[in-house]
Amino acid sequence: MSAVVEVPVKENEIVSYNPATGAEVGRVRNSCSEEVQEAVEKSRSAFEIWRKFPYAERRRIVMRAREVILAEIDEIAKLISDEMGKPAAEAISAEIAPVLDLMQYFAKNTEKMLRPEKRGIGILGLMGRSSKIIYKPLGVVAIISPWNFPFSIPLGEVVMALMAGNTVVLKPSELTPLIGEKIAEIFEVASLPKNVLQVVSGDGKTGAALVNSAPNKIMFTGSVATGKKIAESAAKNLTPVVLELGGKDPMVVFADADLDKASSAAVWGAFTNSGQACSSVERLYIEKKAADRFTALVVEKTRNLEQGLGSDEDIEIGSMSSEDQIKIVEDHVEAFKESGAEILTGGTRNKNFEGVFFEPTVIKNATNKMRPMREETFGPTLPIATFKTEDEAIDLANDTDFGLTASVWTGDLSRGKRVAEKILAGTVNVNEVLYTHGIGQTPWGGFKDSGYGRTHGKEGLMELVGVQHIHVNRFLFTPDLWWFGYSKNAIKTFKEMSRTFASGSILRTIGFLPQMWKRIRELSKK
Ligand code: NAD
Repeated sequence: MSAVVEVPVKENEIVSYNPATGAEVGRVRNSCSEEVQEAVEKSRSAFEIWRKFPYAERRRIVMRAREVILAEIDEIAKLISDEMGKPAAEAISAEIAPVLDLMQYFAKNTEKMLRPEKRGIGILGLMGRSSKIIYKPLGVVAIISPWNFPFSIPLGEVVMALMAGNTVVLKPSELTPLIGEKIAEIFEVASLPKNVLQVVSGDGKTGAALVNSAPNKIMFTGSVATGKKIAESAAKNLTPVVLELGGKDPMVVFADADLDKASSAAVWGAFTNSGQACSSVERLYIEKKAADRFTALVVEKTRNLEQGLGSDEDIEIGSMSSEDQIKIVEDHVEAFKESGAEILTGGTRNKNFEGVFFEPTVIKNATNKMRPMREETFGPTLPIATFKTEDEAIDLANDTDFGLTASVWTGDLSRGKRVAEKILAGTVNVNEVLYTHGIGQTPWGGFKDSGYGRTHGKEGLMELVGVQHIHVNRFLFTPDLWWFGYSKNAIKTFKEMSRTFASGSILRTIGFLPQMWKRIRELSKK
């Protein structure tokens, strides 16, 4: 047997390890602050070229990048699984497939979505004025991303930023740097001009250097603590930021729901990606009268899950991403036990493996008073609490500092929609769970500590452009009524304007015409 020779890590390197085995996946250069600054400067120069690229050419490049991904789909899925621990099946279903869809959507639709728009301006329009809204690229967009969806989160934002005419500097998570490099390589093969997309690798220091290099926009996805630091540093340069932060997402199940379906959704929603999704089900509220039946189904389905190496095709739960992350889960499970909740299945590391595997864990008798019902766990735990009335369910779901997603399960769709509208979360699903980050057409983002701003959808595209209003006056015969030359008559005119002017109905404004004419005559005499 030949011994594995460990290659010493150089100071300017980061090593990526497979969390399921501890083996090295590869290493990349750790970018220092000067290199980050240099990347941003190159990005600014590239912006002057890229912004002039016609949409058709941008579209061709993005569609070519799609083809590159499709040609390498197995290798990319393996890389995601190796660096992050998730099953290769999930790398394809939850990352590659949705982001490929997003790519074609924004490649085909960005031009239409950012088409200049004429705005109705009421009587001002009759007075020879017109207003047009145009959308301009911002410049250098800094994308700082996490490890849990290391391909789809940054890539979706890269594509939207590029289609809008921006250049990008991407800082992937230090736990998944090779996937970051892969994204750059994909676009290189797709013939994206040099420096339009650059990747800088490293930990928080590299991220902080990127924030401090005054990009024109920061798209950040990660923890609340880092989000607050970034918002504070970005404020020094007035750099606008989108913050996609944590969640503690509730799933509310009424007794009239299809309990078989809802229990499968709960198991998938809580344990997919080993529970490391910002929109994982982290709190489950079941109507008391159905609690025993529902919980039994959840436990049975959880016990049937296969845990193992992400590279095995038929496993469902892979490893977690890091020792730090699994320690949070252990702490939360202990805290649940100490505060009187009951572990029904799981509850410990899976010792059959060397890496950081935690068994999917179902917990009964949870309440909102317990600490782990309030802090983000980001691991494979499913705490179950009960409620008796619709109002109580809404109160429990809203009793949180977070507001990313939520789901409501019921056989009564009108109740589902009613309850959904009363839960404060960026997305509320009725008889669905977790997956809507995969619908590129719809906005993604949260309320409260889950952050602000949006990615995806038209709303996300608008974050990546500057809105400019072009106002033109074609009638130059008279001065404007509100210009200097104030008088008693002017005040009378302004009062009438207050009542009837601008965007109201033209019919109503007609009554204003005699006074308007008087004021014009007054001004022309001056
Ligand atoms: P994290 O905050 O530790 O790191 C995120 C990124 O920020 C990494 O690239 C990291 O290197 C960088 N970073 C760290 N310190 C920085 C600093 N001072 N300045 C600039 N950059 C810095 O988060 P994580 O552990 O990678 O990801 C998990 C968190 O992300 C969870 O809270 C999860 O809920 C959240 N998340 C949110 C969404 C969403 O869409 N709302 C999606 C996925 C993950």
